[in-house]
Amino acid sequence: MLPSANQVRQQFLDFFASKGHHIVPSAPIVVKDDPTLMFINSGMAPFKDYFLGNKPAPFKRVADTQKCLRVSGKHNDLEEVGYDTYHHTMFEMLGNWSFGDYFKKEAIAWAWELLTEVYKLPKERLYVTYFEGDKGDNLGADTETQGLWRQYTTEDRILPGNKKDNFWEMGDTGPCGPCTEIHIDLRDEAEVAQQGGAELVNADHPQVVEIWNNVFMEFQRKADGSLEKLPAQHVDTGMGFERLMMAVSGVKSNYDTDVFQPLIQFIASEAGVKYTGAMEPTDIAIRVIADHIRTISFAISDGQLPSNVKAGYVIRRILRRAVRYAFTFLNFKQPFLYKVVPILADHMHSIFPELKQQQQFVQRVIEEEEIAFLKTLENGLRRLDALEDSFKQQGNLIDGKTAFELYDTFGFPLDLTALIAREKGLNVDEKGFAVEMEQQKNRSRRAAEQEQSDWVIVHASEEQPRFVGYDALRAEARILRYRQ
Ligand code: ATP
Ligand code: MG
Ligand code: MG
Ligand code: MG
Repeated sequence: MLPSANQVRQQFLDFFASKGHHIVPSAPIVVKDDPTLMFINSGMAPFKDYFLGNKPAPFKRVADTQKCLRVSGKHNDLEEVGYDTYHHTMFEMLGNWSFGDYFKKEAIAWAWELLTEVYKLPKERLYVTYFEGDKGDNLGADTETQGLWRQYTTEDRILPGNKKDNFWEMGDTGPCGPCTEIHIDLRDEAEVAQQGGAELVNADHPQVVEIWNNVFMEFQRKADGSLEKLPAQHVDTGMGFERLMMAVSGVKSNYDTDVFQPLIQFIASEAGVKYTGAMEPTDIAIRVIADHIRTISFAISDGQLPSNVKAGYVIRRILRRAVRYAFTFLNFKQPFLYKVVPILADHMHSIFPELKQQQQFVQRVIEEEEIAFLKTLENGLRRLDALEDSFKQQGNLIDGKTAFELYDTFGFPLDLTALIAREKGLNVDEKGFAVEMEQQKNRSRRAAEQEQSDWVIVHASEEQPRFVGYDALRAEARILRYRQ
């Protein structure tokens, strides 16, 4: 029997509650009031103001699980999904926080206690890292963290790490500090005997993976690039829940845990195939759908509907990607994704009740999106197939005009065309696509101006219309003409 996701998550929260932490619910995944961020991409994002000192923290110690999305901006793991076993578009980040309260000693002691005593992960399979220092910032190695780890593990498992992996910064400016990461080696004994694990840390090995990052925030990066000590020291940690599940379940893929198995089994049985966990197109498709349905469902239930712009388009792109995997590799010619939502909602409702509460709405939105895209998907795919030889003749390249036609006429987001291209050994002329896109924008701008003048003439006696943007203006013009 696989360990239950609900139990493992609860153990994390109970552990930190027993250490005086206040447990808070996850913030919505959708960010509405921050121009620098579309979706929450780490556990600390909702607490940004406490670290910056903009707001006092209501509790000094907090723990939670935060829904995170890494599909755009600085963190974008979309291309990895389905092909590797431990990056998702949406994942849960378990975190414990000290806002000016405890620091390195307690954070390290508790991280170790939780992993080795509560979850009983084997000590000899854990590697920890510390910041090696940076000349440019005039910072020495974090020997304090290194020394603390010596109480718990052996020297060969305590590794120095560079600024990229071991100095965490919120952005170009703002709170920052050294971090220590915990990695686990899940390889078979025989492999471990052949090659030790230390050199595989941070080397993209599918079974030697980072599970937990503990950040010690004690500096502020100023606009001139210099560092200043913060008045208080904070702890910000993030542990990938699905990776933790892989470790406690003793399996080699996040998808083989109780987090994903109910979804995977349902998708496989509806498709009439067996999931084997391999790198075959059917298995990849099942993993991608199991991953993407979580992102889509949680984004919609948190208020982000699929649309043609910004965050809405990110969700639509992910949805269309999932539809295409289902259509091509699992033979779903009718809407299917929406049927997975109840399985997900039931599985997650004790911790994220919002999905269950809005299940029918979420299903309806997804089904409508599926219906709309399925109308053009097949023809778009045929068009791509028909042109394959000519793409090969023009240097294995899908030209910008065709990529744009696929986007405009068949609703293929550019990254979907790029994905299909990759499967066929082709590239896409993205610059050419951008040129076509710009030309179309100009065309519709001119058309809107045309409509605006039509409208003004028809209603010459009425008050001049307030300029509300091209789309609104066009819609308004249509409505007004209708009323004639
Ligand atoms: P990686 O190096 O594996 O990409 P990261 O260093 O980018 O991870 P952090 O920003 O340190 O990740 O986030 C803290 C933790 O969140 C990681 O230790 C990992 O367990 C988890 N995590 C990060 N990205 C993902 C993802 N795309 N899917 C699942 N878990 C993730
Ligand atoms: Mg990463
Ligand atoms: Mg990393
Ligand atoms: Mg990390």
